[in-house]
Amino acid sequence: MTQFHLPEPLTMALTMTLVILATCLNYLVIWSQNRQQRALLWMVAASLLSGSTFIVRLIWPGLEGVIFAQPAVLTGVSCVWMGCRVAAGHRPRIAALPLPGAFWLLCACIPRFLHNPSARFAVSYLLVVPLLLLALRALWPSPIPKRAGRLFVSGLLGLLAVLCLAWGLLQAVSIFRDLGLGIDLTTVPVSAFAVMGFYLVLSFAFVALVKEESEWAHGRAAFTDALTGLPNRRSLDERLTAAVKGAQRDGQPLAVIMIDVDQFKAYNDRYGHPAGDACLQTVATCLQTSLPPERAEVMRYGGEEFTAVIRQTDARGAMALAERMRQAVAARHLPHEGGVIGVVSISLGIAVMEPQSRHTGVIDGISLIAAADRALYRAKETGRNRATLFTPADAEGVALRGRTRMSPGLST
Ligand code: GH3
Ligand code: MG
Ligand code: MG
Repeated sequence: MTQFHLPEPLTMALTMTLVILATCLNYLVIWSQNRQQRALLWMVAASLLSGSTFIVRLIWPGLEGVIFAQPAVLTGVSCVWMGCRVAAGHRPRIAALPLPGAFWLLCACIPRFLHNPSARFAVSYLLVVPLLLLALRALWPSPIPKRAGRLFVSGLLGLLAVLCLAWGLLQAVSIFRDLGLGIDLTTVPVSAFAVMGFYLVLSFAFVALVKEESEWAHGRAAFTDALTGLPNRRSLDERLTAAVKGAQRDGQPLAVIMIDVDQFKAYNDRYGHPAGDACLQTVATCLQTSLPPERAEVMRYGGEEFTAVIRQTDARGAMALAERMRQAVAARHLPHEGGVIGVVSISLGIAVMEPQSRHTGVIDGISLIAAADRALYRAKETGRNRATLFTPADAEGVALRGRTRMSPGLST
């Protein structure tokens, strides 16, 4: 039978150093391309802590090495948890970071624990399990549709949690009954290689996860208005097109409301642009909270103008919602000396596409926006701080299709 020879401790230590460095390099190269991805730095810390401890154990096999190694490995797994939290957009729990290692050190103050390898391993492995479960909890549920990286990382963490639980329980039993799980010099190198292999594979999975998150965040930013956090004009084009298709398919009415802040140039002139920005944020919140979220979306059209798209809503319903938005903004009592009522107010133009009223010319996304815009024009003309419903008379002499305010990307 061939004899299994363990590598020299020095050879092993060198091999492991190389593996740790390769893992960290993988993270650092990706991080240097996008420094926003701080989760990668947590994973560098995790690899360094968990990896270096085995090197110390190989070179320094006595109890002193154990006392250093176990808390460091546990802190390394805590770093994996933090990395998963940060990657998923949560804040790291810095205060919790040293707790598992500190708990283990506290146990090590009991001599019977320190001199019993089974007890030491049982506590270490059983402490790793909740940390891994917390890391999994941070990743799920996932708000992003593309999740291969998340699944890959979760699979690895889940597998490790199961192995640690099983091994930890076996060690716990062997404290009281000898199960023949003797821990000798062979177990250290074997578990060292297993851990290194795990961290190496995890690094590839984690980089895939972080790239996935970053692509999703960039994609979302492209469709979000930076000032108000509302969906932007690009988003309006897509959502309105989808809403029109849905309304036509289901034979349901669809309302569009164009909203414009009154005398906003005067507001900026009087109170300054930063105050103007804050005012737009308040208006955006008022509009959003006045609408039923299950069938309405409000977007920033541009400047001080917003657009609400409201499904399954006829002219009466749209008028009621427009009035609710107007009152919500006025009720904030934002002082506006140059405004029409002394506080910030809005004017609204409403257009409705109804299956039975093709004669109005409101038949698609472009004509809906154009009609709401015409109605808004009349609200402005007749005194502002009011909501006006589009009537075909508003469009006299003006084509509802092909007006210059339309987004070139808006398909019908
Ligand atoms: P009306 O009642 O007829 O709508 O008058 P108005 O002054 O609101 O309309 P006008 O189109 O003359 O002016 C719009 C102003 O909105 C001009 C522009 O400086 C301001 N504005 C547009 N976008 C922003 C923004 O993001 N922040 C700030 N502070 N002001 C903005
Ligand atoms: Mg305007
Ligand atoms: Mg205005």
